[in-house]
Amino acid sequence: MKTLLRLLGLTRPFAWWMLLAALIGFATVGSGIGLLMTSAWLISRGAMLLPVSALQSGIAGVRLFGAARGFLRYAERIVSHNTTFRILTRLRLWFYEAVEPLAPARLASYRSADLLKRIVDDIQGLENIYSRVIAPPATALMVTALMWMLIGRWSAGAATGVLACQLVAGAGLPAAAAIMARGTARRIAGLQAEQQLLAVDMVQGIGELRVFGRLEAHLERMRSAEERKLALERKAAFIEGIQETLSGLFMNAAVVWLLWQMLPMVRSGNVGTVTLTALLFGVTASFEAFQPLTGAVQHIEADIRAGERLFEIIDTEPEVKAPSRPEPFPSSGGIEARGLSFTYPGSIRPALDGISFTIPQGGRLAIVGPSGAGKSTIASLLVRFWNPASGNLSIGGKELAAFDPEELRRHIAVVSQRTWIFGQSIRENLLLANPAATDEELKKALSAAGLDSLLPRLDEWAGQHGMNLSGGERQRLAIARMILQEAPFIVLDEATANLDAVTEQAVLDTIDRNSEGRTMLAITHRLHRMERFDRILVLHEGRIVESGTHEELMAQKGFYAGMWSLQHEKNV
Ligand code: ATP
Repeated sequence: MKTLLRLLGLTRPFAWWMLLAALIGFATVGSGIGLLMTSAWLISRGAMLLPVSALQSGIAGVRLFGAARGFLRYAERIVSHNTTFRILTRLRLWFYEAVEPLAPARLASYRSADLLKRIVDDIQGLENIYSRVIAPPATALMVTALMWMLIGRWSAGAATGVLACQLVAGAGLPAAAAIMARGTARRIAGLQAEQQLLAVDMVQGIGELRVFGRLEAHLERMRSAEERKLALERKAAFIEGIQETLSGLFMNAAVVWLLWQMLPMVRSGNVGTVTLTALLFGVTASFEAFQPLTGAVQHIEADIRAGERLFEIIDTEPEVKAPSRPEPFPSSGGIEARGLSFTYPGSIRPALDGISFTIPQGGRLAIVGPSGAGKSTIASLLVRFWNPASGNLSIGGKELAAFDPEELRRHIAVVSQRTWIFGQSIRENLLLANPAATDEELKKALSAAGLDSLLPRLDEWAGQHGMNLSGGERQRLAIARMILQEAPFIVLDEATANLDAVTEQAVLDTIDRNSEGRTMLAITHRLHRMERFDRILVLHEGRIVESGTHEELMAQKGFYAGMWSLQHEKNV
């Protein structure tokens, strides 16, 4: 109920539009009632062989109500859909703005297909709430009141019976259907989510599924989900069908009741036959107002669940929050870490334990160590994807928490081994780093990154996940982005890990040429050209086990020298 109220609360800025939709909806059904009633009047009077002049007002009424009905239906659709889509747009933006600060820390437990479902399907599903749950019941209520007044003028008993039938069709049947279908729509939504996850896994992992011979098993899981969903959909359609049939039955019951109550009045001359015929047709037409309510209540449960899934994300507190009064980012200064410790949620072992280091402005520090030592965690703390559990990390003498995280990230260019290339043109992928870059600057950055071959392909599609580019080209594209970003700090996280030895040398040269005067933190477990660094930290199980220059560490003949000799296959 809380979720429903919250979802309905979002319509507040559009309350007048909703009211307008309900009023036009009422006028539409009202025109339908008017059309049938004047038609009935016209036919009955026509049957009495009256002169045409006596039928003029009826002819005008049929024309008026007939034309108005079509026009009003169109207007009602425009107003209600326009309002609904505005609300959905607002919700989508709101959701996206809420998701962004949660990445990556708070989103680690969600799968991307699940998030995609929330932002696409769940929000789309709310259309039902806004288009069927607000205006149509209001319209139905107004129509019920109109019929009560029309019939009540002649007979209170007849009006009460018709009202009872309308209440059953408009409220009782949808409520009973909702009880019968309880959990069905929710389970269908759950199965749709499961199907989406399976489909994404299948498309992205088709190679692995084939290689390991698991394709058939995966397809079987998809088939089973489809069958379970079909069974539930059949049940939902059955309930909806019964509801529609019963609604028709109650419409006929209202007609019979009206006849039963008013025929004696016709016999006694208190009501004309023409009036009774018009009222009978009016009652039939009034049931049009209850049609939109048929499926609405049945789906409401799933819509509320969709709302819950959206609010679950929207209400999550981000790991990193911007300070209320952020400090201006310093124009100079290096990076300093003091006693940095950090443990990932759910993990018992700290990823970092008492790490301290200093990189003076323009200095170069390398962090090396075996896989899982905690190297990338330091980079994540530096760009404030996470907050350290204890200790502090500062730039220019000020703690990172003092800066606006967005501003901080603008000043740090990160090149990681997993460069994300968007399914857009190469130009758009470059502009991501600097939207204001001119064509000349883009070309200069590509040339500097050794990507002259891409110059004529600037407007070509980079392919899904950059599939139209080679691994080396993708990596160099990341370096071109780094060049364009012109950030004073550079973080290289295994930036050349995917490259062959020759390309790696070329890329390292490019990086060196373009990072003059910038402060660099390089993370690697491949020990190539380590003499370039002012200082090297050797990390093992979250602790610094050695530190010094390449020469000093080699002379120590410790962990670093061991790693180096292993990689270079010669004894120290
Ligand atoms: P590699 O060289 O393989 O990239 P690394 O030295 O960069 O390794 P980190 O990625 O910093 O190591 O990981 C340090 C430890 O933290 C590892 O034990 C890893 O399993 C764990 N870890 C990393 N990311 C997460 C996460 N999001 N949630 C939980 N544990 C994590």
